[in-house]
Amino acid sequence: MDDFDVDLMVLGAGSGGVRAARMAAQRGARVAVAESGPTGGTCVNVGCIPKKLYGHAAHYAEAFEESAGYGWQLGAARLDWGVLKQRRAAELRRLNGVYERLLAEAGVELLRGRARLLGPQQVEVQPDDATAPPRRLRARHVLVATGSRPQRPPIDGAELGVVSDEMFDLPVFPRRLAVVGGGYIACEMASIFHGLGAEVTQLVRGDALLRGFDADIGRVLAAQMQARGVAIRFQAQPVALRRHDGALALQLEDGQAVAADTVLWATGRVPNSADLGLAEAGVALGDDGAVIADPRGATRVPSVHAVGDVTGGPQLTPVALAQAMVLVDRLFGDGGRRFDPALLPTAVFTHPPVGSIGLSEAQAAARHGALRIYETDFKPLKHTLSDSVERCRMKLVVDDASDRVLGLHMVGPDAGEVVQGYAVALGMGATKAQFDATLGIHPTVSEEFVTMR
Ligand code: FAD
Ligand code: NDP
Repeated sequence: MDDFDVDLMVLGAGSGGVRAARMAAQRGARVAVAESGPTGGTCVNVGCIPKKLYGHAAHYAEAFEESAGYGWQLGAARLDWGVLKQRRAAELRRLNGVYERLLAEAGVELLRGRARLLGPQQVEVQPDDATAPPRRLRARHVLVATGSRPQRPPIDGAELGVVSDEMFDLPVFPRRLAVVGGGYIACEMASIFHGLGAEVTQLVRGDALLRGFDADIGRVLAAQMQARGVAIRFQAQPVALRRHDGALALQLEDGQAVAADTVLWATGRVPNSADLGLAEAGVALGDDGAVIADPRGATRVPSVHAVGDVTGGPQLTPVALAQAMVLVDRLFGDGGRRFDPALLPTAVFTHPPVGSIGLSEAQAAARHGALRIYETDFKPLKHTLSDSVERCRMKLVVDDASDRVLGLHMVGPDAGEVVQGYAVALGMGATKAQFDATLGIHPTVSEEFVTMR
């Protein structure tokens, strides 16, 4: 027996922390994980899962409308916000239990409370009940997997608005919703709440949605969301939020104001790295508070490691999971596992959704020179009868010299499902000739990627 209570002490039972804890325990390590909130972290409780469930709820509104073109006659539909919230909460409680069971079955001890480092190999967990004494553990390795949290813009009255954590449980469904931001969360929430019945105005400080994605994708998504009824205002920089006549007034830089019942700040997330004793233990932090860790989760301190959102990298669940697996393999396995963030498939669950992997046209042009671009824009078969305005846009970015497909992007039905499959091909270095040699599945939207000429 050594001097340590555990081989791995994990801070945070979210996507990265739970995966690392379970995998390490399965390899025979003695593991404990501290969690100050519900198990499962952001993704399960206030992220991917409730977002996707509410997205499904919103889709029914479209389906009811579109069904008329197929001959269905339905009465007026009305959303019961209370029922949706209640059913979401019940499902999340079930998932919290699943995570707790998975940890217990792997032999991981779950400590309820807020954790901080007392040194490079010592952690203190203060139980939720503040009168209970803190627990101190000596750990051979410490994993910081504390995630990130939404940030409000530094403007007057920002506290009057809400952040994404609060959107799933708003006491009253907002009749008028103003969404500030042009990134993932802003676009998804604007789409979802519009679908659920709110009058939505999205305010974007730049001149495009989804900065960092292929420019066509942002343009097409904006046009599609606007066609469905989301009011999007570009070059709209909020400067203050005030309460006015029982409603909120969002003041813009150009002197105009937007009236709303709820204002959502979807203006990015910051790492949860404060008050953890990290700097005192010698761990280096970036200017934005992100824990500086290499691609294998190593920080400057040999016994302290970090994965997931707290490291400031792409804030996506599969990234946190992949980083956790690389880390555990390095600490308790043969160390051969790697994670290459260069080819990151991603989806934005807007209405219609976006799916993307690899380089945008602009990135590819800067890195590779001559390109071939293949594009298609069409009305999905389903909508030939539904009368929906929805169109599908798909784009392949191909390196002219090697014929390699560098990027694959789409706005259209089931974009996430489509791109997930093609991600395997791009990961294997597929060429356009190999796409061309692949038979389509007809009639699907996905087949267009292998029939573009
Ligand atoms: P988290 O899952 O956030 O876990 C961190 C945990 O640490 C939390 O449970 C927290 O309570 C705990 N913690 C923090 N400090 C302490 C402390 N001192 N002591 C003890 N515990 C502590 N990603 C996708 O891939 N797909 C999506 O569709 C998607 N949708 C999203 C939608 C929204 C609205 C949001 C906000 C995020 C979404 N994400 C999505 C991002 C995804 O949720 C995160 O990237 C992912 O959860 C990060 O995992 P993590 O392990 O780094 O952190
Ligand atoms: P993003 O970084 O994606 O977008 C933030 C947006 O807020 C940008 O449009 C940014 O503008 C704008 N912004 C930032 N500061 C201000 C300000 N002071 N005033 C006005 N606008 C401002 O962050 P999100 O909050 O949308 O999401 C956080 C992360 O969570 C995402 O990056 C993603 O990794 C993850 N996520 C993933 C999802 C998925 O996989 N489907 C879904 C939801 C979240 P500008 O572009 O000009 O900087």
